[in-house]
Amino acid sequence: MSQSADLELPPSDEATMDRETGSIFFVGTATVILRYAGFTILTDPNFLHAGDHAHLGYGITAERRTDPAMDIEGIPPEVDFVLLSHYHGDHFDHLVEEELDKTLPIVTTHHAADNLEEKGFQEAYPLDTWDTIAISKGEVELDITSMPGRHGPPIVEKALPPVMGSMLEFALESETVLKSLLCSVAEPSHSG
Ligand SMILES: [Zn+2]
Repeated sequence: MSQSADLELPPSDEATMDRETGSIFFVGTATVILRYAGFTILTDPNFLHAGDHAHLGYGITAERRTDPAMDIEGIPPEVDFVLLSHYHGDHFDHLVEEELDKTLPIVTTHHAADNLEEKGFQEAYPLDTWDTIAISKGEVELDITSMPGRHGPPIVEKALPPVMGSMLEFALESETVLKSLLCSVAEPSHSG
């Protein structure tokens, strides 16, 4: 297991930390807010509304059919980092590009990290497939491993940005594994 980077987050309030249960708040499409073991994680942020168009490159757009469960202003301030499967307008939209805190860490592909850095994001952590980043917060360590992902059928794959799934493994420093989670993305709009 190779390790491309390490990220140390300020410890959370132990008194309010719940290691027994976590929560997943579904915002819409591939956007969720995942809370567990003191971590708050935002995935593939898309806060467009029904009828808005996401830009997918090559002049292609996809119309969003549903509203998000909350607006971008509702992103909780305790979000520790963003986990981004790939750089596409329906997973990281233009509102997010303008309004998201540029210092928020983003764990993602090399392709996405390069694009995000061009847009002024300062804390991108790129992963190659099977790379693991260790993120610590207090006495909990979260290992995120980039898993192979396929974006669409082989004929369109070459025209689309690389995509990753993620394995999240939460453990105490004592190496007691708390939970493992697999995050993958579904793309009804353009996965063919
Ligand atoms: Zn995509």
